[in-house]
Amino acid sequence: MNLHEYQGKQILSSYGVRVQKGHVANTADEAVEAAKKLTEETGTGWHVIKAQIHAGGRGKGGGVKLAKNLDQVKEISGQIIGMDLITPQTPPTGKRVHKVLVAEDVYYPGDSEISEFYMSVLLNRGTGRNMIMYSTEGGMDIEEVAEKTPHLIFTEEIDPAVGLQGFQARKIAFNLGLSGKAFKEMVKFVAALYDAYVGSDASMFEINPVLKASDDQIIAVDAKVTLDDNALYRHADYAEMRDVTEI
Ligand code: ADP
Ligand code: MG
Repeated sequence: MNLHEYQGKQILSSYGVRVQKGHVANTADEAVEAAKKLTEETGTGWHVIKAQIHAGGRGKGGGVKLAKNLDQVKEISGQIIGMDLITPQTPPTGKRVHKVLVAEDVYYPGDSEISEFYMSVLLNRGTGRNMIMYSTEGGMDIEEVAEKTPHLIFTEEIDPAVGLQGFQARKIAFNLGLSGKAFKEMVKFVAALYDAYVGSDASMFEINPVLKASDDQIIAVDAKVTLDDNALYRHADYAEMRDVTEI
């Protein structure tokens, strides 16, 4: 079962994975209320309006936009809700947008440079083991990275008998070029992400981008989560997340 970004982030957050926070809205007026609430909770001045459809590449298709004030939140949400969003991953006629996620701006300026990484957790069918795939080339289409610069994609396989080990999480943080606080935050992020994957009986997590913010926080900015249908009986709350308007 595929989830929307906002639902995937709810699951991640419940396992202690830091996510770009947000509230979902069905109308432009609800989006304004969501933005006000988010500013109270996080202090964010700007808001990112993100179309919730079961397809990636939304940014390219005009489904992810930055709003710098509440008038823009209303205007942009009004444009996105109800549109047929066309991305490289939708059918040619697009997918109708019913909801937007009003999210905090996590690309704020600060002491260190911002970077975007790619990270996914999935089953290696060849070995029957879970693996973490990651890359320094975040925010881009991973198929393109795999084609043009395959040496920039790393994998770490997890022994199911012992789970993800500390040295593996540290290796990932190291290969991503991190040090200091960002390194420590990435180690925590990877451990929580793997916990979430196993605990939710997921079959795929794809976090693209994972952001290293300018204050060295590590944040899941996007979340593509697929749950194992055969395990949903164990998660009544997740089963309710099914969106019957999506096929
Ligand atoms: P998709 O993968 O469907 O295009 P994402 O959630 O990954 O959707 O967003 C697309 C891009 O929008 C991201 O790669 C990121 O660079 C950019 N983006 C997301 N949030 C912000 C933000 N707060 N400020 C600036 N850019 C953002
Ligand atoms: Mg993305």
